[in-house]
Amino acid sequence: MSKIHVMSENLANKIAAGEVVERISSVVKELVENSIDANSKTITVDLIDSGTRLIRVSDDGNGMDKDDARLAFQRHATSKLLREDDLFFINTLGFRGEALPSIASVSKVDLKTGQGSVGTHIVIHGGEFITEDMTDARKGTTIEIADLFYNTPARLKYLKSDATELANVTSYIEKLALSNPSISFSLSNNDRRIVFTSGSGVLLKTIHEVYGYSVSSNMIEIKASNDDYDISGYICKPAILKSNRNHMTTIVNGRIVKNVDVNRAINDGYFTFKPDIKYPVVVINIDTDPTLIDVNIHPTKQDIKFSKIDELNNLIKDTIGHALRQSLLVPKIEVKVPEPTYNEISMPFVEEETEHYENTIQTDMDFKEVILPKDENGEDSVRATEEENVLIKKLELYPVGVVLGTYIIAQNQDGMYMIDQHAAQERINYEKVLNSLRENEVHTTSLLVPITIELSSSEYLKIKDNLNVLEELGFKVTEFGINTFLVTEHPTWLIEGRETESVKRIFDIIIEGKYLFDRVKFQDHIAATMACKMSVKGNEAITLEQAENLLDDLVLCDNPYNCPHGRPTIITFTRYELERMFKRVMN
Ligand code: ZN
Ligand code: ZN
Repeated sequence: MSKIHVMSENLANKIAAGEVVERISSVVKELVENSIDANSKTITVDLIDSGTRLIRVSDDGNGMDKDDARLAFQRHATSKLLREDDLFFINTLGFRGEALPSIASVSKVDLKTGQGSVGTHIVIHGGEFITEDMTDARKGTTIEIADLFYNTPARLKYLKSDATELANVTSYIEKLALSNPSISFSLSNNDRRIVFTSGSGVLLKTIHEVYGYSVSSNMIEIKASNDDYDISGYICKPAILKSNRNHMTTIVNGRIVKNVDVNRAINDGYFTFKPDIKYPVVVINIDTDPTLIDVNIHPTKQDIKFSKIDELNNLIKDTIGHALRQSLLVPKIEVKVPEPTYNEISMPFVEEETEHYENTIQTDMDFKEVILPKDENGEDSVRATEEENVLIKKLELYPVGVVLGTYIIAQNQDGMYMIDQHAAQERINYEKVLNSLRENEVHTTSLLVPITIELSSSEYLKIKDNLNVLEELGFKVTEFGINTFLVTEHPTWLIEGRETESVKRIFDIIIEGKYLFDRVKFQDHIAATMACKMSVKGNEAITLEQAENLLDDLVLCDNPYNCPHGRPTIITFTRYELERMFKRVMN
């Protein structure tokens, strides 16, 4: 005898809650996405104790009538209007229509919603309707979720610390604000405001409101297309790199996504403009025909797959690389002058805002009205790309001396520059070697006395396997007895006077086997290694004349701002910053 148990709807909701409601941020995500879909212009998220006690989302959107409001808490309610490309996001957001009943089954919900005439008020505890009555009519919806998981203690334990949950919500709201510049977002926790954007519709202004002045003033606009993809947005100059990927925002057809390939393409765009372990601040919009994207991955991961991913990656990589090469990238020293004690002098907002919180949770953040700096025409001053290009061509550096045996001090009419002599020469030599490696014709020199390289058996076999690579580089190598090679000819870019050492280093690179199958990266690796070897070290005295030659060569480089490992070569103190430091100017 078997009995058929019909699973109660409430139980099904609770089970579903375990799958779709994992974090405070997943509840916030569901509620805020509903608000966006309801055409809201202003969305306010208030949390108590990081949302573990209360999550309140208020909007000025379309609101619901009584029937829709009830229906929203029933499973598989599909009253929602889908956006055109939601068909392709349906798996990402596939739990929609199920999430609200699931959330309601594990919390205490208080909903007030109206379309302008009579409002509806619904209270649900643990999935059970407690009250339903009328409320004052306001257009929009306010929903409160209290005591999440109060009736499922096992799940309650899975919530991370308050700080982690709050960090997740914050970074989610920030990204949502960046993907919806026309909507005003506000997030607070225990009455302390954490995020505020004005909904100006201007992406750069939203970036400013989310990340502060030091970031927004260092952004470069990008825009490009190929047959299938349009990309647009902002990328940061290398002066403000971050130590994690959290500030890389990718938006596809208006939706935030995470995609490893796109992230890699962005990083490749910054190749040699930044160290590998640093990440840029980037907001990139990708627009495409919805049929070129495919969502079949876990509902909460926001990941998608692209068709023609290689074309997209090349577009992103090339656009970013080009934009960086077109920009003036000398990092500026930002001087922090303490607030004057006398009140009359009002400090510009610049230095008050420069300290952007790396950690999104901070206790005393105060929010000012956001003003972007204006240029003479009163336009928001986003420096035009062509203008920056002209500036690079004009960058003239006159050396004054060398300090600490390592840094060249130079000047021009705009200010003072410090140049790391090793990094600068490394960049010059790197481009020199790389250019000759890329030439079709290989120029070689014969050695009067061949170089003998003795190896272990495994190393010997590795080299023997890759003799063609050495030949392509311009080395003439012959086998010579047990585990030994003779090098009789080498390419002309090899460091003069240090040939043996350089040959050994190149053998090492091949034995290491790194990048052997990626021609571009292999050439780059050889060029960077050789450049480092042949460049003047720190603490090595150079004359003023040598410094002058070095600077002349440096400004002609493709990217004069970074060594091949991404470290900066030049930093500058502008005339204005120097005057501020000496209090010749007080504003
Ligand atoms: Zn080096
Ligand atoms: Zn370097």
